[in-house]
Formats: sequence, structure tokens, C-alpha cells
Amino acid sequence: MYDVAVIGTGAAGISAVLTLQALNTELVWLGPPRLSPKISAAEKIRNYPGLPMVSGDEMREVFLRQTQEMGITVTPKNVTGIYAMSDHYGILCGQEMFEAKAVILCTGVESVKPIPGELEFVGRGVSYCATCDGFLYKGKTIAVECTTKDLEHEIRYLASLAEKVYLVPLYPNSEITAENVEIIRKKPLGIEGTKKAERLVFADREVDVDGVFMLKRAIAPSVLLSGLETVDGHIVTDRQCRTNLKGCFAAGDCTGRPYQYAKSVGEGNVAAHAAIEYINQR
Ligand SMILES: Cc1cc2nc3c(=O)[nH]c(=O)nc-3n(C[C@H](O)[C@H](O)[C@H](O)COP(=O)(O)OP(=O)(O)OC[C@H]3O[C@@H](n4cnc5c(N)ncnc54)[C@H](O)[C@@H]3O)c2cc1C
Repeated sequence: MYDVAVIGTGAAGISAVLTLQALNTELVWLGPPRLSPKISAAEKIRNYPGLPMVSGDEMREVFLRQTQEMGITVTPKNVTGIYAMSDHYGILCGQEMFEAKAVILCTGVESVKPIPGELEFVGRGVSYCATCDGFLYKGKTIAVECTTKDLEHEIRYLASLAEKVYLVPLYPNSEITAENVEIIRKKPLGIEGTKKAERLVFADREVDVDGVFMLKRAIAPSVLLSGLETVDGHIVTDRQCRTNLKGCFAAGDCTGRPYQYAKSVGEGNVAAHAAIEYINQR
């Protein structure tokens, strides 16, 4: 079992793992291995101390080099669920489970907000994980909304199982072609049903489905970890970056505004110290 699992490879996660590694903590760092796409999104960063007018790409290279030189590697996994056990956390990545005494959420903010009905039907026809739940829809009709091209392998997997897939790609240049896949290039307005998700609704049509997969890079924190307190989609923390759940800490954009590198880095550091203190006191 690891001491700490850090989820997210943005500024907050980087800061947390640097501190944890410096303090000889057994850690697992989960997220995209080339780091958060938001790091390189900035054309020029003017407000980060010590790196004046650095570009996002340059900043990413510096961050990558620094973590590599510290001997830290990213485990390239997307976390699909976190489960609070009696004295540790189980972190599910598809079909693989990691265990850690404490967890630091550095998952950023997702720009695509949940659609009406999405959160209501999670676990009742709405899923965020193709590899976890895909087999439940073998031979059935599903809708798949996908926000990012790098999850197309999950779409292909679902298309290999389902009889019919209504695919809603919310990114340009979708490369999915299969006989059982019908592409709908419109934003869905909501998911409807009675006891479970039964329909995906668009402005001019609706499709009857057995299930809906919402494939996106970031999952709402309260969906990722049941019982986690959030307000307006942000994780509620105290000044030590502690959440309402023992052993669970949060840092960066996911805890609220301002959405800035410096704030994320600061909180990542605080969360790492708080996690170590928590483990030492257990
Ligand atoms: C175009 C643009 C320009 C910007 N310019 C500036 C600027 O000039 N100055 C400034 O201070 N700030 C700027 N920002 C804001 C800055 O990018 C963010 O504040 C910062 O990246 C937040 O870092 P973070 O670590 O909290 O979150 P993020 O960088 O969003 O990182 C979140 C990480 O969590 C990962 N993740 C999420 N969910 C999961 C999951 N389920 N499993 C595994 N991994 C997961 C993501 O893939 C990502 O790696 C800019 C942002 C943008 C988009």
C-alpha cells in the first residue's frame, strides 16, 4: 500500500509530489504522463514567480525535468472511482485498483459541466468508465458523449461490445467509423428516464438507450468520491487542504478560484504536508 496517492498532473499535483518525494513518502502519481494539458495551454505566463514570460510549453518542460530529476514518475492512469475504506482509500483506474493511506485530489476543473440528469443517473445507466462498465451493455444500445480525442480507444471498446452506439463527439476530427456507430454532432440537452437513464435528449430529437457513457478527462469530484463535500463543483477544504473526509486532501483549481498556477502550487505543497502529518498521526 502506498502512503499517498496524488491524482492529477497539473501544477497542484506536481507541487504535491515534489514535496512528498523530498520527504521520502511512498507515493503513486496518477494522471496524464505528459502532464496536465492546461500547463501548455498558456501562451505566455506573466504571473509565476521566478519564471518571467515563460510559455506554457516551456513551463511544462521545466516541470517534467524537475520531477524526472527527483526520480518521480507518473503512472499514466485515469481514475474512475475512489473508495473510502475503513483506514485507507481504494483508487480504481478502469480494472486496476491502487491503495493508499491518504489521497490528494489535484484534478483541476472540467470546463464541460454535467448535463441535466447526468449526476442523477450515475450508477443507474450513466457511467464514466468504459472498461469498468462496458460489459454491462454487451448487445445493447448506448449513447457515448466524449469530450476529448484521447479517449477514442474507449469509444472503440464500447462499439465492439454494444449493438448500437449513438456517438456524440464534443471535439473536432473524430476518427471513429463503424457500422454500428451513428454520429450525432449536437450537444445533448439532458438525460431522461424514470428509475434509470432511458433517453438522451437533443433539441430536435431524442434517442432511446440502455445506458449513457460520459467520457471526459475530469469527473466531478463528488462523483469520483462519494460523500465528498463540494460547493458549486469545488471541493470544500480548510487551510490545511483537508476535505470533510479523513485522509482526503485537495489542492489547486478543484478547490476554487482563483484558477492560477501559483495558487495551485501553494496548495499542492500544503496538502502534501497535511497528508504526511495525517499519516504520522494515524
Ligand atoms: C489558456 C489558459 C491560460 C492560462 N494562463 C494562466 C496564466 O497565465 N497564469 C496563471 O496563473 N494561470 C493560468 N491558467 C490557469 C492554470 O492553467 C490553472 O490554474 C492550473 O493549471 C491549475 O492547476 P491544477 O493542477 O489545479 O489543475 P490542472 O492543471 O487542470 O490539472 C488537473 C490534472 O488532473 C488530471 N485529472 C483530472 N481528473 C483525473 C482523473 N479522474 N484521473 C487522473 N487524472 C485526472 C488532469 O488530466 C490534469 O492532469 C491558464 C489556463 C488556461 C486554460
